[in-house]
Amino acid sequence: MALRLDTQIQYLKGVGPKLGDLFTRKGLKTIGDLFEFYPRAYEDQRAARNIASLKMDDIVSIKAQVVTVHSINMGRSTRKMYDVVVKDASGQIHCKFFRVPYKGYFERFKPYKEVRVVGKVTDYRGRLEFHHPDIRDIEPDEETQDALIPLYTEIEGLATNKIMKMVRQAFSQIEEWPEEALPKWIIEKYKLLPRKDALKEMHYPDPQKAAQYAEFKSSAQKRIIFDEFFWLELFLASKKTGFQKEGAPKILNKATKLAALEKSLPFQLTNAQKRVFGEIRKDLEKSHPMHRMVQGDVGSGKTLVSFMAAAYASESGFQSCLMAPTEILAEQHFKNAQKVLEPLGLRLALLVGKSKASERKQVLEALHSGEIDLIIGTHALIEDEVIFSNLGLVIIDEQHRFGVEQRGVLKNKGNSPHFLVMTATPIPRTLAMTVYGDLDVSIVDEMPPGRSPIQTRATFESKRPQALQFMMEQIQKGRQAYIVYPLVEESEKIDLKDAVSEYEKLKELYPKVSFGLLHGKMKPSEKDQIMDQFRRNEIQVLVSTTVIEVGVDVPNANIMIIEHAERFGLSQLHQLRGRVGRGEHKSFCILIMGYAVSEEGKERTAMMEKTSDGFKIAEFDLEMRGPGEFMGTRQSGLSGFKMANLVRDMQTLQEAREAAFEVLRRDPKLAYLENQNLKAELLREHGPAALAGIA
Ligand code: ADP
Ligand code: MG
Repeated sequence: MALRLDTQIQYLKGVGPKLGDLFTRKGLKTIGDLFEFYPRAYEDQRAARNIASLKMDDIVSIKAQVVTVHSINMGRSTRKMYDVVVKDASGQIHCKFFRVPYKGYFERFKPYKEVRVVGKVTDYRGRLEFHHPDIRDIEPDEETQDALIPLYTEIEGLATNKIMKMVRQAFSQIEEWPEEALPKWIIEKYKLLPRKDALKEMHYPDPQKAAQYAEFKSSAQKRIIFDEFFWLELFLASKKTGFQKEGAPKILNKATKLAALEKSLPFQLTNAQKRVFGEIRKDLEKSHPMHRMVQGDVGSGKTLVSFMAAAYASESGFQSCLMAPTEILAEQHFKNAQKVLEPLGLRLALLVGKSKASERKQVLEALHSGEIDLIIGTHALIEDEVIFSNLGLVIIDEQHRFGVEQRGVLKNKGNSPHFLVMTATPIPRTLAMTVYGDLDVSIVDEMPPGRSPIQTRATFESKRPQALQFMMEQIQKGRQAYIVYPLVEESEKIDLKDAVSEYEKLKELYPKVSFGLLHGKMKPSEKDQIMDQFRRNEIQVLVSTTVIEVGVDVPNANIMIIEHAERFGLSQLHQLRGRVGRGEHKSFCILIMGYAVSEEGKERTAMMEKTSDGFKIAEFDLEMRGPGEFMGTRQSGLSGFKMANLVRDMQTLQEAREAAFEVLRRDPKLAYLENQNLKAELLREHGPAALAGIA
């Protein structure tokens, strides 16, 4: 039977419905999907070696025999590490797995079994071993195979060589290839291989290019990576083009409130604040809505910039709303707004989950009738009954805490309102181009004057007494402190116990010092009470889980001790650390690591000691942990990549983005003949919504 890319896999010769089902469950439905099931590595048979000859960083293939398989518990969590020991006539080596490839994976490695191990040799504490190698059965027809063999991720017992045979079967049966979706000028400008050839080469690798494949630098891989980025970028570009069509509230006035605000401040705006507000103001004065992200390190004064925008909007008669991720933060913003905006005549309101029903009713009525200029709150703001009379500006603080839908709901409460998101997590450029690729970016890259950098030290548990001693010296000088514990979801109870028991211990140890305890399981009113006491210096040391992470501003607190620092992401550590260093006092951050910290963990904390540049830290974090982990939540858009990697393929990402935006610049409605395949593909990938802005 002649196949096409959209033919179901089950019609492939030798497959049938049962195997077809198995593939479908893995998300592989069509022949096209099968072609995009790329090998996870290539085995270079010319690199076959014996164990005794291995050297660090070699990528090799060895023929060996299984000696033992066992699992080892890791720390106090439920995670396990698997160790497969293999040997040949020359020696033996450990193959370690920190993740289980699939259930039952290790069961087939019985002692004496002959296997082929393919992977990179790693040096672990002076011993050579493999981490996550490919271990595959030795095939009867082994000798007749190519010198470079694609290795596929096994599908529930379907071994890699079986998958290879299926894929190649499909290539031999396929007759009809779709036309290139990309216009010719892109193929030429970026020197791209035809997609068809690229796909084929992935599954029929050229032994001459083994080294290129290993580094994802072959022209075949580049084409595929380019495509993956291109479709995302084209989608983002069309969204952005769409924004430019929505009619926005025009905010243009004499800026008398703005002038009064600036005059009332006890300090000068930083140049960065002025520049960023300038960019915002220009957007507000346009007839299509702003979609802007303001990035800036903790304490760089983003909130004030957003207040300025709200003041400016109110003078043109528009309402604004500011949504924050926690009640503590919403209340803090509200208090600040009372100081800064109320004197200018702005009418403010606060709406959080715990607001009393009567208050709430009053606020909602006032909002609806236009008697409120700025409403500040938590996600309580997105509820249906929150109705504005004239919403002109939506501001979202620490926006990575919110999902795309939540942002969308707020937007829909106005008539194409302007949209401003703020984040203290510096976003590496690659993420700014993908996850947030439809937003314009402003960066507050300057701190208000008079802040000295936070001195950071990483140390081990054994030095905790000294760390506490040092903290107490600061307390004696009148300062305040934070002690932070991680709260990892899977072991929430254990961690909570850590914070609570440490709090009890400290109270006993230092009876003259007043301690407070703050954690996520407390009622909002209890949390507030604790925070208020801390703000008033009635609590000197706040023992807390990460609930204090965002936004909390207590300038007298100048020292933070972070326990189990190795368990945090670097960007999170950086945010936490930003809670100190907010006043005139020299500030300190002590990172305490558990004894079990890995080399990688040490490298990460060393990075924290070295730099206070949030962007550098974010790039490093992204490199070490990947985008999913980095963002804290799984962000849509990135999970779709089969081969592309944001860190490794930055250059290609840049090209794909440039190409996608250029397509829409030349042909904003995608009406040209050369763009018809592309338009069809966009529609297929993202549905009609993708074209809403441009059609
Ligand atoms: P961010 O939200 O960027 O983390 P904030 O807006 O909370 O930072 O600002 C931190 C503190 O700095 C606040 O107390 C704020 O009043 C103060 N601040 C803001 N801008 C300036 C400035 N230009 N000069 C001095 N202090 C400032
Ligand atoms: Mg903030």
